[in-house]
Amino acid sequence: MPLRLILANPRGFCAGVRMAIDVVDQTLDVLEGQSVYVYHEIVHNKHVVGRFRGQGVRFVDDLAEVPEGSIVVFSAHGVSPAVRALADQRRLTWIDATCPLVTKVHAEAIRYSRQGYQILLVGHRNHQEVVGTAGEAPDATQVVESPADIPCLRINDPDRLVYLTQTTLSTDDAGVIIDALKRAFPNIKAPPGEDICYATTNRQAAVRQIAPECDLVIVVGSKNSSNSVRLTEIAANAGTPAYLIDDGSGLRDEWFVPNAMARLPDVPPIVALGDRCSTPGGTPTGLRGHAKQPAVPAEPITVLLTAGASAPEHLVAGVCRELMARFGGTIQTRDIVDEDVEFGIPATLKRLMRERGIDPASRRIHVTTPVITRETYGAVPLTVSASRGEAHASNGADRASGRVPANQRSRTDPA
Ligand code: SF4
Repeated sequence: MPLRLILANPRGFCAGVRMAIDVVDQTLDVLEGQSVYVYHEIVHNKHVVGRFRGQGVRFVDDLAEVPEGSIVVFSAHGVSPAVRALADQRRLTWIDATCPLVTKVHAEAIRYSRQGYQILLVGHRNHQEVVGTAGEAPDATQVVESPADIPCLRINDPDRLVYLTQTTLSTDDAGVIIDALKRAFPNIKAPPGEDICYATTNRQAAVRQIAPECDLVIVVGSKNSSNSVRLTEIAANAGTPAYLIDDGSGLRDEWFVPNAMARLPDVPPIVALGDRCSTPGGTPTGLRGHAKQPAVPAEPITVLLTAGASAPEHLVAGVCRELMARFGGTIQTRDIVDEDVEFGIPATLKRLMRERGIDPASRRIHVTTPVITRETYGAVPLTVSASRGEAHASNGADRASGRVPANQRSRTDPA
């Protein structure tokens, strides 16, 4: 049965991920044969991490594994001040590849804690980004994974509260939790700008808008990628079966049988960001119910293909080629938001480049929409639509362009 394959735009790499990967690539290039360590997975994608392992990069979850005096790169998800201090103690040269939009949330945590606020950080308790942000103000911060956590919070003064959020949450889930916080604490302060980043919002908006007209949604991304998992949940909530695959080898023929598509995959309804209910004897508050069962589709099968922010475009292209080879059909692109984003290179890497006579301006990091060719994707797009709408400009980064104000583009790592 032929496919009508819709490629969501935007999809895949965001500027923060592009920057983090380029930082490791350029560090390897600039240091020519020196050992390079990366603290945690540079981004949550097994192919990206595997490629760097093949180039000799060593990934560690404990700085004690990094020999004194070595070079270490901090991942896009950010680290706490305690990790930076430990790196200094061990005389490591650290290059901070934290996404500037994560750094923005760190800065908010520092500012509000200094002003005497307690911080309620909405996010996944064990996610590296949340651990890093909470580490900026550990005594002032409590993590909220679901409305069920609210009765357990230790609040000193309900008039000195602020909420912040992890950058890669589902906007729907975060909204439910924030509404519950506002009901519990009517005077809680909101962050000055949206913390959920432009890339997360735009990729979710594309799925929310396109999935209802599709029989199936395929998300390219790794299982430990928060924003990739959120995309499958949003599709399922729209009533469309969705599958998360690392690459084309994850495709299953049975997904493309009409009767099989009438059954949703085994995605449980999401009741909380985490997997626990911390209210004694309580039942987690449902954030959303079971997705509706889709109708059996008419031919051809319409498939939405998208990718999480840490998934390289060559994997998306590989999935396209595989689908075109197996089923044939057409590729369309659907533009929801055009992103044109540029982040700066971390200060330490700039210094290392200058020391070796390389002009950092020649190594700018820029993310644009991929060009689709028959050789790379197995077909060329038949139509290019421009149904922009859901995403909006906001503080922090302009949602449409993804541009970040100059004062948020780089963090203050040691130059
Ligand atoms: Fe930065 Fe957003 Fe990408 Fe995370 S998903 S690295 S916050 S742009």
